[in-house]
Amino acid sequence: MILLDGKALLSKIKLSLCKEVSLLKNDNKRPPHLAAILVGDNPASQTYVNAKIKACNEIGFESTVINYSTNVKQDVLLEKIKDVNDSDNIDGLIVQLPLPNHIDEHLVTHSISHKKDVDGFHPINIGRMVLGLDCFLPATPFGIISLLDEYNIATSGKKCLVIGRSHIVGTPMSILMSRNTKIGNATVTLAHSKTKNLDSLTKEADIIIVAIGVPTFLKSHMIKKNAIVIDVGIHRIPSQSNKSGYKLVGDVDFHELKEKTAYITPVPGGVGPMTIASLLQNTLYSAKKIIYSHT
Ligand code: NAP
Repeated sequence: MILLDGKALLSKIKLSLCKEVSLLKNDNKRPPHLAAILVGDNPASQTYVNAKIKACNEIGFESTVINYSTNVKQDVLLEKIKDVNDSDNIDGLIVQLPLPNHIDEHLVTHSISHKKDVDGFHPINIGRMVLGLDCFLPATPFGIISLLDEYNIATSGKKCLVIGRSHIVGTPMSILMSRNTKIGNATVTLAHSKTKNLDSLTKEADIIIVAIGVPTFLKSHMIKKNAIVIDVGIHRIPSQSNKSGYKLVGDVDFHELKEKTAYITPVPGGVGPMTIASLLQNTLYSAKKIIYSHT
């Protein structure tokens, strides 16, 4: 079993992004700038935003966090998003999900300009991804592709099962794995909560990508020997042995099935850091376009 180490790859990507910031500086240009909107006081959302901002600081990107209380009005968010869309100094904007129930998540995320949509959620970016055109790839699927590429995993002709069909992970992941690209060319099956006999699909799959939000769902008896397992899930579960009072687990029962796999992502340290890496890469890509369009 080989661990797919997202934390190590994030460090490597950060080094190359640091060099890109230096090149911009040498060219008398400003650094890339990521803005994040955080609504409410959900501890997990705060942790995710903090991790993204910390990564920006480490590589010399500028960052701004825009905080709102849980009862913020939707119009206030939309107005702020418009300001950021119009700003020449901000290259990427993310809205940390989930949002409170009174806010229309689609309306808010789709009001981010597709040119600053570094999470890759906007319909224009999703549409361009499907057509294989230049776009921001959705951050988590993009990170998974980068991880498979880093470990030179051959995906062509392999049976790839994606479990979960969310707009931000499962659905775009299934599209990327079936593209005619180096990491791609897999024969993809997309499973969801209505899928029957899931076990028969997991047992046949060469590559299994699990993004369902059910802790330790995928078990050893469900996979074939030497499968490649990518765990997108992330859950805090109570643990007395940890000082924090909780531990992180994924959608895969890592300890039970790891030895049966050829490659597997750990939680934490697998897909999570790669989502951050993609966000930073997308922000740099946007910054270069915005900065050099003014020269
Ligand atoms: P989501 O929007 O909650 O959707 C879950 C999907 O899983 C749905 O398509 C659902 O099917 C399917 N599903 C649920 N239970 C199932 C079951 N027992 N068997 C088969 N399919 C099932 O998911 P998401 O936003 O993609 O998030 C999934 C997990 O990934 C969560 O734990 C989330 O926290 C984590 N996540 C991690 C990262 C990261 O960077 N590491 C990024 C994003 C998300 P239906 O469509 O039929 O309801």
